[in-house]
Amino acid sequence: MLDRVVVVGAGVVGLSIARVLSALEGLEVVVVEKEADVGWGASKANTGIIHSGYDDDPVKYPNRARLAVKGNRLWTTWAEQLSIPVDWCGSLVLARSSEDRRVLRELLARGIRNGVPALRILDGEEVRALEPMVSEDVVEALWSPTAGVLSPYEATVALAENCVENGVKILTETLVKGVRVKDGSVEGVETSRGFIGARWVVNAAGLYADEIARMAGVSDYTITPRRGEYLVFDKDAGPKPSRILFPTPTPVSKGVVVETTVAGNLMIGPNAVDLPRDAKEETYTTKEGLAYVWREASKLVKKLPGKREVIRVFSGLRPQPSGGDFIVRVLEEPEGFVEAAGMRSPGLAAAPAVALEILRLMRLNGLDHGFKKRWKAERRAGLRIMGLGWDMLEKTVSRNPSYGRVVCWCEGVTEGEVVDAIRRGAKTIDGVKFRTRAGMGRCQGAFCRLRIAAILARELGKPIWSITVKGTGSELGVGDVKSLLEGEDVAD
Ligand SMILES: Cc1cc2nc3c(=O)[nH]c(=O)nc-3n(C[C@H](O)[C@H](O)[C@H](O)COP(=O)(O)OP(=O)(O)OC[C@H]3O[C@@H](n4cnc5c(N)ncnc54)[C@H](O)[C@@H]3O)c2cc1C
Repeated sequence: MLDRVVVVGAGVVGLSIARVLSALEGLEVVVVEKEADVGWGASKANTGIIHSGYDDDPVKYPNRARLAVKGNRLWTTWAEQLSIPVDWCGSLVLARSSEDRRVLRELLARGIRNGVPALRILDGEEVRALEPMVSEDVVEALWSPTAGVLSPYEATVALAENCVENGVKILTETLVKGVRVKDGSVEGVETSRGFIGARWVVNAAGLYADEIARMAGVSDYTITPRRGEYLVFDKDAGPKPSRILFPTPTPVSKGVVVETTVAGNLMIGPNAVDLPRDAKEETYTTKEGLAYVWREASKLVKKLPGKREVIRVFSGLRPQPSGGDFIVRVLEEPEGFVEAAGMRSPGLAAAPAVALEILRLMRLNGLDHGFKKRWKAERRAGLRIMGLGWDMLEKTVSRNPSYGRVVCWCEGVTEGEVVDAIRRGAKTIDGVKFRTRAGMGRCQGAFCRLRIAAILARELGKPIWSITVKGTGSELGVGDVKSLLEGEDVAD
């Protein structure tokens, strides 16, 4: 009999779990996602750091401490297999006072205890020799060479593509409304598109994991949103650090970071603002939040670029669990209910390790499928025109002229790349943006958005007005202008 597992949530955690489970013979894996695309929860709006794992207290938060370090190691392999660009640039935690220096020593000891390799304390001069833009106030830093930066949405899309290649079904715009439990065991999930039967339900619903848990009769934790805001600068704006610059952390957060994204933009953020439990959609930015981020970032470096160089501000919501630690477990009651919840930071770094841990726990609880003989670990990334040498560029364009037609001038994205993104699963303007970066440059889509909508309309065979920015309810229009006058007496 074919066994089925439903994973609720197509974020980096749910998809990592789906990827690992897709390697098992005879197990059908279905991922159910309420949004129109994968990775549009916490996985889309974060700092993108693959933390090395020195800052999580192994006594208070054993899952965070253990899984971040293991996840960091696993990402080196996963990123290669999935063609996800990572800048393994390392991180510096900057100390500006004697109290900060004391904390650095605590972090160093904790990191060694957690198994983080090659940690070292540098003095102020060594730090500025590595990163000349670091403030003269900085007296020491903890150097952690194994930290890296990736694009979190690119990583999530790569995971999704690999899952699909390995037979996983991903149902988007499908809301889980209930978990059916009978005689103490899960039977499946009730969704906005009907019932899906399953022997296992994996709760990886991010901010909503506590609500999914309650649907299964589990109520021993809550999830509250903790907002983090960011400012992103134009690619030409600098100076930009070569390593991730952290302040000395506080007990609440790792603090406002100064980093260069993998795409090459200077980015500063995030702050950490706790919101009420019902504020799970409040992803807006605030004047005070952004001012705080600017102030804190300014303390780490000699100079930030001018404010006119900021091209985008955004915020993300961390799913903060009431107990503080990641909830990674298989429940006895109801049987078949599995949780990867409370995945606050460092959930991105930990995701591959969380997935393997879930597999281990499911095996201990009766999942007895063997591994498939044929399973594809590799995924091929889409072609990027920017950065190709002239020879390759000429060959590519002569084979397919659409790779010579630039659609997004800021990021140098061509029609060929947009079409490829659509064929790989993008259905919306944001879906194209997160796969290709079209619309992420200086003009933020002012010039390319309509062109992309037209390509989406052509490729999907839909009228242009029905193309959405990010799923149902965000259509570009309402239809033919005359439809506005429906019911009225209009002469042709
Ligand atoms: C500001 C900020 C900065 C961060 N920085 C870092 C960092 O640098 N490094 C790091 O390691 N971690 C970082 N994190 C943490 C990291 O982003 C998260 O741990 C990770 O993205 C969590 O992934 P997830 O899959 O659990 O959740 P999500 O990405 O939120 O995925 C959950 C999914 O479930 C879906 N869903 C919810 N309810 C339902 C339902 N009823 N039916 C169907 N689908 C549903 C949601 O739409 C969503 O797509 C940061 C987080 C934030 C917000």
